[in-house]
Amino acid sequence: MSSSLAPSIRIAGAGPSGLATAITLARAGRRVEVYEARPTVGHRFIGDFQVLENTASPVGALDFLATAGIAPDCKLEPTHDAVFFDHRLRSTAVRSAKPYGYFLRRGPDPGTLDRGLLAQAQDLGVEVTFNRRVRPADVDVVATGPAMADGLAREMTFATGLADRTWVLFDQRLAPGGYAYLFVRSGFATYGAAIVADFPSIDRRFEACLARFQEIESFRPESPRHGYSYMNFTLRRSAVSDGRPYVGEAAGFQDYLFGLGIRYALTTGVLAAQAVLTGDSYDALWERELGDRQRSSVVNRLLYELGGNAGLANFARQAAGRDFGDFLAGWHRFPTWKRWLLPFVLRRWRRRDACRHHLPSHWCRREPPANGTRREEVAAARGTAAAPRRDVELGEILPAGGGR
Ligand SMILES: Cc1cc2nc3c(=O)[nH]c(=O)nc-3n(C[C@H](O)[C@H](O)[C@H](O)COP(=O)(O)OP(=O)(O)OC[C@H]3O[C@@H](n4cnc5c(N)ncnc54)[C@H](O)[C@@H]3O)c2cc1C
Repeated sequence: MSSSLAPSIRIAGAGPSGLATAITLARAGRRVEVYEARPTVGHRFIGDFQVLENTASPVGALDFLATAGIAPDCKLEPTHDAVFFDHRLRSTAVRSAKPYGYFLRRGPDPGTLDRGLLAQAQDLGVEVTFNRRVRPADVDVVATGPAMADGLAREMTFATGLADRTWVLFDQRLAPGGYAYLFVRSGFATYGAAIVADFPSIDRRFEACLARFQEIESFRPESPRHGYSYMNFTLRRSAVSDGRPYVGEAAGFQDYLFGLGIRYALTTGVLAAQAVLTGDSYDALWERELGDRQRSSVVNRLLYELGGNAGLANFARQAAGRDFGDFLAGWHRFPTWKRWLLPFVLRRWRRRDACRHHLPSHWCRREPPANGTRREEVAAARGTAAAPRRDVELGEILPAGGGR
């Protein structure tokens, strides 16, 4: 069948993963329909800066985009420097010769990655329907974003007179399992606190980390916008369910340590499209490209949490002693010692039914009983395709009155 006669390919979700799938398919001449539940793209973000990471793969982020034919009309600002603060506010400056990432903005506003991808998809003839929530059974590719909340962030964007900076605060007491960040570029700032435990305390932690940054340099956010968003990490054996590829965070593709998911989302979108076009196995494609990287990241998370504040201070000191990009690239690799450690780590991660380990409670990923039978819980814990999908509503995990 010629591609113009072939049936449309339907995609659920107009985030980076769904739009990367759509762009790749449309560039190959296929008709594509994308259904988006919300009235806009990027609804869960507030114009915040995010980092498109540039160290996890030997192929740099810009080369990846160029090869994939993804050309979002949005600003990608290379970043080489950062300052890390430990729990005592001791600072460590790091620098990389090559950019370790590219700042971009997220959300529904013009100039964001989300709007840029949407424009490219629509220019290629992709039909995007907003305000249409669809079921996985009604589409060919599922790109519906995080289904479970493994991490939660509260963010604020604002105008500011502060000089440009990339500041990260690592303090396990204030941001358990996570960190706080202050990114400033050209008079615009993103401040956020991300945690992986004790979600109802997010507002208190947000304020406490902000106060720590204010101790270093006082500032008054102008016209602030606030937002909450959660993230999902899942190690999968298969990201295909009922014959449908799941891409991006819908399949839990994300870096376990720092919650970097954009590159995973774009990559899995492109790979799912390739699988549709060629008939190749999507599972084999993503496993080759991303399997070891994501497994490495779950080991990194364990080390991050076990290390506590002293370990983090040590991490920062080590990062300062060498090129930061090379340092990060080393952490993304999956050497033999990490392979050995992985079964131990996964056993901890999967023990949903018996919290006898000494790790923080979020390592016990037991679903509330209402979500399914014991068999389904086990499937969910293992990240198999049979896992029940449950779209968590933000209101379920936020403190009362949150979710502005
Ligand atoms: C606070 C925060 C900061 C982050 N910072 C970074 C960073 O600096 N760098 C980085 O790489 N990553 C970062 N991430 C992660 C990154 O944003 C995500 O991994 C990425 O957006 C995932 O893209 P996606 O397309 O899979 O999902 P999403 O971006 O969530 O898109 C999914 C889309 O599907 C739609 N949808 C959902 N259900 C349905 C349905 N049933 N029918 C139709 N449409 C549906 C949703 O409305 C949404 O538009 C951050 C995440 C958070 C929360």
